Amino acid sequence: MSDLFKDRLSCAMNRQNFGLSLLRERVERIGELIQDELRKTLDELESEAKRSNEEINEVITWKDDPVVYARNYSYTNLFVYHGSLDCGWVNPRRTRKMLLGEARAAGLRPCCSCGYRAAGRADAA
Ligand SMILES: [Zn+2]
Repeated sequence: MSDLFKDRLSCAMNRQNFGLSLLRERVERIGELIQDELRKTLDELESEAKRSNEEINEVITWKDDPVVYARNYSYTNLFVYHGSLDCGWVNPRRTRKMLLGEARAAGLRPCCSCGYRAAGRADAA
């Protein structure tokens, strides 16, 4: 074994150690990033499950609610729901249907001339 051979072998082994340690560090950094992302995504998954369960539970409370009608045009009287399409304040072709609980949850008030009809039906149901 010549000294030159020992030198070449030693250099090759040093390059190997250096190259492999750089790659190991990269793998560890990627692992930490992946764990952070996993933790964040798990948190989002848990809060979305909680939010959607609450939404479904709210919708379930509307099970027996009557249909009410809300204007879907103009900015006046947008905050009112009607218990009847016969109400003089309603254009039947320009309303959207809502469930009573849905309308209440959206902050709509009963129409002073017909809203009581929906509320009455809901209480009777
Ligand atoms: Zn009305």
